Amino acid sequence: MEKENILELRNVTKTFGDFVAVDSVDFALQTGEIHAILGENGAGKSTLMNLIYGLYQPSAGRIYVTDREGWRRRLRAKSPRDAIVSGIGMVHQHFMLVENLTVAENMTLSLGQVRRGTAENPSENSAYKKALGKFRFKKEDAIHITEELSEQFGLAVDPSALVRTLSVGLKQRVEILKALAVDARILILDEPTAVLSPQEVEGFFTILRKLQADGRAIIFISHKMKEVLSISDRITVLRRGKKVYLGPTGELTARELAREMIGEEVNEVERSGNAPLESEVSDNVLQLSNLTVRGSRDEIAVSDVSMATHRGEIVGIAGVDGNGQRELAEAIMGLRHSESGTISILDTDPKGTKAVRQRGVGYIPEDRQTTGVIASFSVTENLLLNVTHLENIAHWNVLNQKRKRNTAEQLIADYDIRPPIGGIPAAALSGGNQQKIVLAREISLQPDLLIAVNPTRGLDVNAARYVHENLLVQRERKKSVLLISTELDEVLLLSDRLFVMSRGKLIEATAQRDNIEALGLLMTGETDKDLGDNLAT
Ligand code: ADP
Ligand code: MG
Repeated sequence: MEKENILELRNVTKTFGDFVAVDSVDFALQTGEIHAILGENGAGKSTLMNLIYGLYQPSAGRIYVTDREGWRRRLRAKSPRDAIVSGIGMVHQHFMLVENLTVAENMTLSLGQVRRGTAENPSENSAYKKALGKFRFKKEDAIHITEELSEQFGLAVDPSALVRTLSVGLKQRVEILKALAVDARILILDEPTAVLSPQEVEGFFTILRKLQADGRAIIFISHKMKEVLSISDRITVLRRGKKVYLGPTGELTARELAREMIGEEVNEVERSGNAPLESEVSDNVLQLSNLTVRGSRDEIAVSDVSMATHRGEIVGIAGVDGNGQRELAEAIMGLRHSESGTISILDTDPKGTKAVRQRGVGYIPEDRQTTGVIASFSVTENLLLNVTHLENIAHWNVLNQKRKRNTAEQLIADYDIRPPIGGIPAAALSGGNQQKIVLAREISLQPDLLIAVNPTRGLDVNAARYVHENLLVQRERKKSVLLISTELDEVLLLSDRLFVMSRGKLIEATAQRDNIEALGLLMTGETDKDLGDNLAT
């Protein structure tokens, strides 16, 4: 049977002011396929999806959708509600759940929102059909619908659980259930695996295959090549808003796809040799002993962590977001009070973030928007924010303006900060370029200890590679790097020693570095206790 297109985009363009985010894109989604959209950060993937989902309206071009009765008609979604009525569901990169309500209550909300619209196109879900006849949804209806769908697709979740108590993986399930509850036949999943551990990704793929077998069409967005190759039937590649490739999965190799994505050859950095064994080094740079730190909700975020880093090595901490990594980094940086235990840096005990920095610690924070750059300051000012920089520049003159400008210009050139204009406010730069400012400022000082938290998040491939090179240069210079990242590939690529952080606990996993499955187990904290204990030596 020839596959029909359930969704078609013709020459769709979206501009924001002068900027063309999506540029005359043709795209077709077939019934029952998993269609991957691959593209670098900023390629226009989310924008394209938001156009389909009615969050944005196209500046030009048309979108067609085949409705439940098989009629092809033009989709002019003014809001997500219109898209939902047409059978389109979307799970966003950032979830849209009410944290203080239960799963069932969240389901009730979304069902209620679209009820009138979908009543014209009744769903196949029997509980939903039954509930539609009623004046308004009751909680029991929502619980019933949730249970029925959970069962059908293996999306186990407790309907009465408060959303805020759920793990990220479970929240994602609730989002998928919400889409299924209103009988979405087209499911858009925007970077769904970004928040999952390797194990959860496997489970998630099983669910996708069930949805596919059920005849639903899925758009799977990712910038991770391996995942795209393993789950999709067809691949569309976007580059700078343009569709540059469409073909069946397997037609191009990962390398060829990468070239389509970035328009040139990509090479990964290589870490040469392993750092000296711990037993051979006496020089601890960072030493944590029985460190316990509370999080913002007063919960124990870091639990009894002990570890040390040495010169000439990169120590990696892998883990799924929200397992205490942020609190650990903040405690080391003197930005967060520790409950108990000690943090020693080069055999001293600096108090407060200024003292920590003066001891020679650089910091690439997770959240560059609030802690990395000062948006209203110029690029130059941001680059030179650091005390040490100012001291270097003020060496023979009271803040020699020329030297200040030269230093900034050099950093702008070295780190390829765009646009290369020191005088404009940092706010005018894209997220990736703001990140380059932070990197330039923190790495160029060659700190004895560099704490990098998700340093390549939001960067394009070349910029990410540049960051990796810089971290390795620090290692060559016999500095110490603590790399905390949710990108397992990145941690594996760069780290001499490897830890996994899960629920506040730190577990050494260097011996497991070639065993993704074991690492995944450690990351989800699902590991049987014996394994964990054996590793934590
Ligand atoms: P992707 O999802 O592929 O990473 P996006 O679709 O989010 O990319 O973004 C594509 C480009 O459009 C980026 O350069 C981004 O900065 C820009 N962009 C996205 N949304 C807006 C908006 N609302 N206003 C202005 N620019 C935007
Ligand atoms: Mg996106």
